[in-house]
Amino acid sequence: MDITSRLLRVYQLDRQLAGLQTRLRAAERFLEEQTRQLKALDAKRGAIVLQTKQIAASVANQENDIRSTEERLEHFREQMNNARTNKEYKGFLTEVNLLKADKSKVEEEALAQMSKSDELKAQLAQLDAQWAEREKMRSLAEADCATRRAEISDRLEQLTGERAAAASDVPAEILAQYDRLFELRDEDAMAPVEITDRKRHEYNCGACMMSLPMETSISLLSGKLTTCSNCQCILFLPKEAAEAITPGNKR
Ligand SMILES: [Zn+2]
Repeated sequence: MDITSRLLRVYQLDRQLAGLQTRLRAAERFLEEQTRQLKALDAKRGAIVLQTKQIAASVANQENDIRSTEERLEHFREQMNNARTNKEYKGFLTEVNLLKADKSKVEEEALAQMSKSDELKAQLAQLDAQWAEREKMRSLAEADCATRRAEISDRLEQLTGERAAAASDVPAEILAQYDRLFELRDEDAMAPVEITDRKRHEYNCGACMMSLPMETSISLLSGKLTTCSNCQCILFLPKEAAEAITPGNKR
């Protein structure tokens, strides 16, 4: 068997393997997407939890402030009650009013923070619900992947074995060249020579449809590895084209 025919067996097995795994690959991509979205929800959740903690710490500080202000207020009120002169009384009163203003400012701030914290808690509950929903989908997707993997596992093993055997018949360098092509171009890694006009001996590349020079056909007939000069795919001769090209064949 010439090199092109040996490579063609590898190619046909690769096509079968790709076809067999289409549904599994789709399921795997879906699973990846679910996992990615769960991670995004985790990140959002982490940020909100952190913000909630920061707010709680600042509210605790504000409550301390308010308590110490109240103590100072109590102290000044006592002094007001014991004031000996009107001037002294007015002095304490000014202090008391200043402290009261401070206190109510801090109280307002604390209230605003607490309502922000309530908002965040509501967001967190919403995120938790989204997370649970997404996790359900992720776990279904995982089960789906496992099912599809199990469905094809026997056939996959068989084809993989056949592919390895076929590949071992191809020199490493040529196999590497082909593998790169298949990676890049999938089914267009190899293409048949197509007859466009039998009488005029016109043929084209089955991948890019460009016409092939006569030398290409001759090279193929001699069993050499031949690529399309236009798209670089590896060409092969289907039986019909081989018969048409073979010199002296009057069919
Ligand atoms: Zn081509």
